[in-house]
Amino acid sequence: MIPLAKPMLSMEEQKRVNEVLFSGRLAQGEYVAEFERNFALYQGSNYGVATSSGTSALHVALLSLGIQPGEKVITTPFSFIATANAILYVQAVPVFCDIDPRDYNISPQSLLDTIKTHPDTKALVIVHLYGHPARMTEIMEIARQYRLAVIEDCAQAHGAAIQGKKVGTFGHFGAFSFYPTKNMTCGEGGMLTTQDRELAEKARSFLNHGQTAKYRHDLLGYNYRMTNIHAAIGIEQLRKLPGFNQRRQAIGARYGREITNPAFVKPICLPGFEHVYHQYTLQVDHRNRFIEFLEAQGIGYGIHYPKAIPDQPLYRHRKIFGSFPNAREAAERVVSIPVHPGLTEQEVDYIVGTLQRYPGNE
Ligand SMILES: *Cc1c(COP(=O)(O)O)cnc(C)c1O
Repeated sequence: MIPLAKPMLSMEEQKRVNEVLFSGRLAQGEYVAEFERNFALYQGSNYGVATSSGTSALHVALLSLGIQPGEKVITTPFSFIATANAILYVQAVPVFCDIDPRDYNISPQSLLDTIKTHPDTKALVIVHLYGHPARMTEIMEIARQYRLAVIEDCAQAHGAAIQGKKVGTFGHFGAFSFYPTKNMTCGEGGMLTTQDRELAEKARSFLNHGQTAKYRHDLLGYNYRMTNIHAAIGIEQLRKLPGFNQRRQAIGARYGREITNPAFVKPICLPGFEHVYHQYTLQVDHRNRFIEFLEAQGIGYGIHYPKAIPDQPLYRHRKIFGSFPNAREAAERVVSIPVHPGLTEQEVDYIVGTLQRYPGNE
């Protein structure tokens, strides 16, 4: 079976982790600080603040922006559950804004419509799904007009950019995840990036029990710290990220050229946008039939995501704000195929050949 994802770890990560294991400083320390500096530099952000996960990064971002219980935060219905759950953590109210069915991200037009229906909105959580940037130039224009705080959920988009400007540098915060299936990993881990010193300091305090000086606690904070062990892996992974992304892009380009079977709708990349192919996601009719075919042929796949977030049982008993027909339709039709940098050229050949043979609707 060709797996859908595969973390790429080798001697470099092993050597760095060994240094930490015998340094006597396992928890947050020098390695975390180095990882934060390197990540911020790579991003073109002034500050990097490491966290225990992408989810905790999102939670801390909302806390640092001062989002209060009952306040409305607009986000996408078509993402991993963590995106919207972070809004629930601060007891705010998620308002779901429909996606553009071509790039699966919040469309500026539906954002504008959603804001008009919910003019008391305070913030946006924008996801760059599958590694394709959301249309941040238009979205930030709208955010400025309505004075909204903006968090970019970049968990699937390390290195993605619009006209050379990296995602995570448009809004007030970028939130990244280093879970093993992402474009780079630490095992578990996350990072906030920001240009604003005050926000960086607030975030640092919230993830460390609200501490502002040793044993002085001004805020109700959490233990969301990254460890040196995780940061040691991250430092080496970050060095390899550009190469990983180039490999993903090369495979994505081959799929784009060589998968011509009309059974599939392929992903797009908007002009001037840099897609980092966290996932290569097709749309297909009768998905179950296609999935059985992939299983029989030994090709791993994923459904990202089988339900719009507000259609999850967790959200069913809540009052759902917003309408999202495009997200619901995408949830019925999407299938992701392997695009990770561990694929060999032969495996890519096999995937292309197999998909070309898929009988589709005949
Ligand atoms: C993975 C992911 C997260 C959560 O990151 P964790 O590190 O797993 O907590 C949040 N949002 C999106 C879009 C993700 O893909």
